[in-house]
Amino acid sequence: MSDREAFRPALGVAAELTERWLDGVRDGRIPPSADIDAVLDALGRRLPDRGPDPAEVLRLLAAAVEPGLMRMHSPRFHGWVIGGAQPVALGADWLVSAWDQNTALRSVTPGVVAAEELAGAWLLDLLGLPASAEVGFVTGATVANLVGLVSGRDEVLRRAGWDPGADGLAGAPRVRFLAGEERHGSVDSAGVIAGLGAARTVAVDDQGRMRVDALRAALADGAGPAVVCLQAGNIHSGAFDPLGDAVDIAHEAGAWVHVDGAFGLWAAAAPGLRGLTEGMARADSWATDAHKTLNVPYDSGIAVVAHPGALHAAFAQHAAYLASSRDVADPADRVPELSRRARGVPVYAALAQLGRDGVAELVQGMADAATAIADGLRAIPGASVRNEVVYTQVCATFGDDERTRAVGAALTAAGVALASPSTWRGRAVLRFSVSNWLTDADEAARTVEAVRAAVASAG
Ligand SMILES: *Cc1c(COP(=O)(O)O)cnc(C)c1O
Repeated sequence: MSDREAFRPALGVAAELTERWLDGVRDGRIPPSADIDAVLDALGRRLPDRGPDPAEVLRLLAAAVEPGLMRMHSPRFHGWVIGGAQPVALGADWLVSAWDQNTALRSVTPGVVAAEELAGAWLLDLLGLPASAEVGFVTGATVANLVGLVSGRDEVLRRAGWDPGADGLAGAPRVRFLAGEERHGSVDSAGVIAGLGAARTVAVDDQGRMRVDALRAALADGAGPAVVCLQAGNIHSGAFDPLGDAVDIAHEAGAWVHVDGAFGLWAAAAPGLRGLTEGMARADSWATDAHKTLNVPYDSGIAVVAHPGALHAAFAQHAAYLASSRDVADPADRVPELSRRARGVPVYAALAQLGRDGVAELVQGMADAATAIADGLRAIPGASVRNEVVYTQVCATFGDDERTRAVGAALTAAGVALASPSTWRGRAVLRFSVSNWLTDADEAARTVEAVRAAVASAG
């Protein structure tokens, strides 16, 4: 049997099952029909002494699991902030799995490292970040936030005369960690892992943007090394912190500035939205996700650090058995992991296909669809849009909290569109995020119709 024949049955079935699943991207029911116990029963629970052949395992797997899948790739899936994988990125992701490269070292696997390096350089260009910054491909923005915070923590400690690499953190000067009141939960989580603790809260305005006067006061209230985390894209309002002013105020106080732009950093790639990110490039580190706005498959986060020395001091691995490239950083010098898949390759493929104009249109298209959804919701009696729709997020209420929750439940039950129930500024809201390449004006209209029906059925 040839090599190709050995793989064919499994891959043939996988391709067939994939096509069948993707056939429902636009019209499949969104929420799962089976709960986790039902899926466990269907999977069989018991470890077999010996199982069926690969093709059969894949058929059984898909039959058991698919009823328990949420159609997150639907153009009318507006829950959390979740993108659907576009074809070229999914195809590249398949190749990455087939190539099966441990993407730690450039001399060992120059092929995938070249594609990742190009993707990184193109990203810096598209997002208007310094060309001298370094890019690390991580699992998601949570880890990208961690990479930025750890790089910053160590750098401000070194400036304060402490060497965290040699001496650890016990006994080190305390590093103040500040972030806006409406930061994403992953920022606190990354702060805790980094030993900074949860962020000290800086007051925000009615859209959730950090107030610069409050930042100035918080920095003045205390002394010593500091890391400030700003936000580009609030998950409820889509609002951006006043990035340029906040960066400058934090830098005057000697702080390292990190920007959590999991989905918001991409605004910089669209001329009509770029103003939201003004001054962002003066920060020290940035986190974003390609699995959100760029619509590549999970898992694809991106960490960017303006100071390569600080990044390498925190993350570089040097061991005699590794064929490290001494003069140039290896992929493993920029992320917490050593062995990992070549997750930057689908990013390359998405950028190579879309190009500069395509990325701009993708991001602008999402913002336009959010505006269309907000306009459509405003025309529904009793509905109210609670945020200024500046980017891809819309928060709406449908009467009191109980009724808003009832409308959300009716929307999910109908299965045509889905939005996240949440609480924002003391009120239950239904949050619509647009982060899918397929969400155009028609799909936005279908979402609004689905909400209108949910409002009617909620009574
Ligand atoms: C999604 C998100 C994160 C966390 O990203 P993951 O990819 O889920 O780890 C962080 N910050 C913001 C603003 C987000 O939207």
